[in-house]
Amino acid sequence: MTTRPRDFQRSRAYAAEEASGIIDGPTLGSVGACRQWAESVLALPGLRATYPDAPCRVLVTDGRGRRRALADYDPDPATGLRRIRLPRWARSRAMVAHEVAHLLIDCRKVPGHGAEWAGAYLLIVRLGMGDRSGDRLEESFWEHRVKVSNPEIGLDNRVSSVPIMSSQSRQGKEDGR
Ligand SMILES: [Zn+2]
Repeated sequence: MTTRPRDFQRSRAYAAEEASGIIDGPTLGSVGACRQWAESVLALPGLRATYPDAPCRVLVTDGRGRRRALADYDPDPATGLRRIRLPRWARSRAMVAHEVAHLLIDCRKVPGHGAEWAGAYLLIVRLGMGDRSGDRLEESFWEHRVKVSNPEIGLDNRVSSVPIMSSQSRQGKEDGR
């Protein structure tokens, strides 16, 4: 039996992203569009420079029957890909960024929503959604006393933000991811 590091700032991290307003952005729509956006961000030089071991491809499934979005750091045995599951409500860019950040950080070694995860989330938001969203999230992390590690070397390698593919409105949301 393994003991995971305690996820000490999970509820503060949820409160912070909620208050930042960035998770209320337009939905990307289909799981395919979410995968495309996630892989575009994972391909950015700034992301690769900071997380050279990050996966280039991810499996995105629809989270059918689930209330929560989920990320599996361990690769899916059938495809060898790390997977995120996204119920319909969780398909804004920020929510995809939240889950993709979980694919970069091994929660058996560091807390699930700890400083390393928060740093990865912030970098993905900055690179994929732009500095305005990044600043809002960073400020909200600070206000909610969420510890953030600082992997910002990636920002020196930034090329441009990934454009949003579709802009349907979000369907509503539930707590927990
Ligand atoms: Zn999470």
